[in-house]
Amino acid sequence: MKAEIIAVGTEILTGQIVNTNAQFLSEKLAALGIDVYFQTAVGDNEERLLSILDIASQRSDTIILCGGLGPTDDDLTKQTLAHYLKRPLVFDQTAKERLDSFFAARPAVLRTPNNECQAKIIDGAKALQNRTGLAVGDFLKIDGKNYIVLPGPPSELQPMVQEQLLPLLIENHQQLFSRILRFFGIGESQLVTVIDDLIKNQTDPTIAPYAKTGEVTLRLSTKADSSEQANQKFDQLESQIMSVESLEGQKLTDYFYGYGDDNSLSQITFDLLRKKQKTITAAESLTAGLFQATLADFPGASNVFSGGFVTYSIEEKAKMLDIPLAELEIHGVVSDYTAQQMAASARIKTGADLAVSLTGVAGPDSLEGQPAGTVFIGLATQNEIASHQVKISGRSRSDVRQIAVLHAFNLVRKTLLNDKDLV
Ligand code: ATP
Repeated sequence: MKAEIIAVGTEILTGQIVNTNAQFLSEKLAALGIDVYFQTAVGDNEERLLSILDIASQRSDTIILCGGLGPTDDDLTKQTLAHYLKRPLVFDQTAKERLDSFFAARPAVLRTPNNECQAKIIDGAKALQNRTGLAVGDFLKIDGKNYIVLPGPPSELQPMVQEQLLPLLIENHQQLFSRILRFFGIGESQLVTVIDDLIKNQTDPTIAPYAKTGEVTLRLSTKADSSEQANQKFDQLESQIMSVESLEGQKLTDYFYGYGDDNSLSQITFDLLRKKQKTITAAESLTAGLFQATLADFPGASNVFSGGFVTYSIEEKAKMLDIPLAELEIHGVVSDYTAQQMAASARIKTGADLAVSLTGVAGPDSLEGQPAGTVFIGLATQNEIASHQVKISGRSRSDVRQIAVLHAFNLVRKTLLNDKDLV
């Protein structure tokens, strides 16, 4: 927002008074982040005031006039602005009542036509009430420009600015908006590479990528007058981003899972489970309860989760989940077979709608000839028992466990979204 302050009063030009109103206003506007590009002083002269209004309207978005709202003949600010904008002056009821009671209490004081004008505002303006004087101020929005009229005496102008104008300007000032897009299953470097053109050519909204353990976010930011205006810009950019393809030829929508700073795959999955009124259990090996502990972090977890299994050793997999030990030994614990058996058995034992299992190599050493980061995730529903292999390479033991849990949540999320029988 480009603002301009026009102080009206011949006394300022002749040096009789110092233009402290401009200094006061500039300081307040700067604190709001509103740029003041011009400060002008003009005498009490209609022609010159009209000419500066014309210039200011061409170069500024917010034009603040102060002074010249008094009852004498040389006070012509409001009338001149009304003339310039081709709008009539109309009474503001509150200001009129104040004026009436002022004169009612002072029968000896002559009430002039100019006094009437002090209680008037330009048609369409919001009145800025004058707590310490009689002249009402104006806040008028026309064609995307703000015209503001304030009284000259600092004892009137300052409370009006502090109490009424600044809150209005804050409301009208462009705010910074952002939208966070959250992706899982695509690395930051790949995401940045495939949307490189958009990042380079995009100035409004801007795009800022940020990587967290196992996921990437894109923060879209823009300055706008309203959230509706910002959302329009975000919607347009978001659909451009989503139509880009990953190096594997998949649309970015396939990796996108949700919005917002305070969001996560587990949160989205938990919300979906609740929405669809489905229950879940888990049998965990390398993650040793991390999936279940994450679920239990959400208030209301007992609606979707009543219990599960931590089967770290091969013996406990056999014992707790009734999987034949000989079969486990044949297939190995890092296998599709084990992941599927773990999920299927966990589901049957608990009666949950869905069961997820995690078995694999947290590292740093390899296991059964499989490198660290090899994880099998099983998923059992009433319709199917499946397993998925993921490879989480070059990560610490702790990261492998955390990312494996994210994969499990993502698998559950996709299953809930796609499986019609689970709807
Ligand atoms: P009034 O009802 O007192 O006539 P007004 O809104 O018409 O108020 P002016 O007549 O322009 O205002 O000025 C009234 C007094 O307010 C000035 O004599 C001066 O003391 C103070 N004043 C006006 N303009 C400024 C300014 N820009 N900076 C500081 N003081 C000012």
